[in-house]
Amino acid sequence: MRTPARIEPRLLGQMTKRRIVDVLRARGPSSRAEIVRETGISAPTISKAVGSLLEAGLLEESDSPSTTTVGRPGRPLMLATKTSHVIGVVLDADRIRTVTAGLDGALHDETVDERATPESYAELLDAVVDMLTPVLTSEINVQGIGISTPGLTDQVRQEVVLSPNLPCTNGRSPSTDLQARLGVPCWLVRETHALCLAERMQGRARALDDFVMLDGGAGLGIGVVQRGELLHGHRGLAGELGHVTVEPDGIRCGCGNVGCLETRATDHALLRDASRTLGRALDPRELIEILTTPSAERDAIAGDVDRVTTWLAVAIAAAINLFNPRAVFVHARWPRARADLFDAVRERALERALLPTATHCPIQFASATKLHGAVAGGLQRLFDQQTH
Ligand SMILES: [Zn+2]
Repeated sequence: MRTPARIEPRLLGQMTKRRIVDVLRARGPSSRAEIVRETGISAPTISKAVGSLLEAGLLEESDSPSTTTVGRPGRPLMLATKTSHVIGVVLDADRIRTVTAGLDGALHDETVDERATPESYAELLDAVVDMLTPVLTSEINVQGIGISTPGLTDQVRQEVVLSPNLPCTNGRSPSTDLQARLGVPCWLVRETHALCLAERMQGRARALDDFVMLDGGAGLGIGVVQRGELLHGHRGLAGELGHVTVEPDGIRCGCGNVGCLETRATDHALLRDASRTLGRALDPRELIEILTTPSAERDAIAGDVDRVTTWLAVAIAAAINLFNPRAVFVHARWPRARADLFDAVRERALERALLPTATHCPIQFASATKLHGAVAGGLQRLFDQQTH
């Protein structure tokens, strides 16, 4: 019989650090004794790993002594929120947004900054540098920056492969370029993956190991979590449900093909069709207002709403049939305008999905935003780097 390979002390240390981070994420502030109890790892090993995490600025000791520890009260440990931050950057077709957050993932809402997305890649980088300079010159230690991007992203090369809705980033690496200018670790995270991570970290998917996140904003993509892991595919490009052809002679898609599902099932598709019907260019806020209040215009676009309802339902049903998830989360704006709009999407999706796969698969709105996603993506990379 072969004896198991001896685990390297360094690897053991990294695994211990990872376990500590996981315990603090799940339980919140905890004493060393509680972590020992929770992990089953010896007190000296935990103590050494905690020391190293404190030194790296990933943990802090809480101000209040633990009330649950018997004997000598210890100060509970928590993921750093005061001394270390992480930044989330959301690159989108129409706007760029930034936010800072603690290492527990809680956003500092007062720090949200927003700008219109510039035309060129160089201006895009300039804008992000400009928005983040005040944060990076403050006293707080920024551990890293998660950059959420729409479209196909090669996670290994940290490069945008194809972004139909933000084409100036095609073939570029915003993370490498921003890291060179800002001097802080930057990580590129595909938007649908970022949304999955955020939903699992602090949203409605906390206890779920199998779920699908469907993003139907500007483009249409899905993130798939199976057995607790994101589905990546060979180069990290899996999940492009939006570029499945549904109308062979349909309209031109940003990917270059025609008749993609993405041209029919998104916020942008409804905005385009409703603008054409009403004979004026609507902005997203106007569209929501029209959907919310009874009016002749609302009646006029009822056919457009009906079509996008069906196509979004088709996308959800496809995700259910393909991946048999425990739940589907939908990130889209227009169905939030009125409760009956999303009810209709859900109803049609369940009609179109195969019954055995759709049974017990709730379809609900995602609770985490793209800002949460960028932060969650950054945190995952930060903890992976520090504990692997
Ligand atoms: Zn396409």
